[in-house]
Amino acid sequence: MLSNRSIKVSNKKMTFWERIYLPAIIGGMFVTFKHIFKKKATIKYPEQKRPVSDVYRGKHILKRDENGAERCTACGLCAVACPAEAISMIASERKMGEENLYREEKYASVYEINMLRCIFCGLCEEACPKEAIFLTTELVPPFLERQDFIYGKDRLVEQVDKRVDVSKRKLKHTV
Ligand code: SF4
Ligand code: SF4
Repeated sequence: MLSNRSIKVSNKKMTFWERIYLPAIIGGMFVTFKHIFKKKATIKYPEQKRPVSDVYRGKHILKRDENGAERCTACGLCAVACPAEAISMIASERKMGEENLYREEKYASVYEINMLRCIFCGLCEEACPKEAIFLTTELVPPFLERQDFIYGKDRLVEQVDKRVDVSKRKLKHTV
């Protein structure tokens, strides 16, 4: 032995009760039964979901204004603020007749967030001067393919007929 240390092994004989194991089994069963009637600490996820805080930082949303036009003007500040470099976009110029689609003269024709890179810090939300991007309480679901975690405008832009209330997150910025 390198350390020259030794441990004395006890050769103490087991008692009769220790040899039949019954007291230990009954003790174990008692612990099990004691927990049957206690409130369960686990839930049946994903069928059941735990309530999350109103300001929980989950999947992002690109907001529309009150007329339904996209608020994002592709300024890139969210991408610059993102410590994980998860955001990329392509800016385009709004054409005549598209005023109802895009709020500003410049808009993001492509806007992508890589949810595998994102650390849900919320800095993009804080950097945005147009109140265009917010994090929601929705979780990003698991996928099998890496490509499925690249969220484009089809999954990020708010649906016209399904508005998402972000007033609690706006409140967060004012306190
Ligand atoms: S939440 Fe943070 S990490 Fe995720 S996209 Fe926004 S700034 Fe980047
Ligand atoms: S989401 Fe906001 S910060 Fe990001 S590009 Fe659009 S307007 Fe700029």
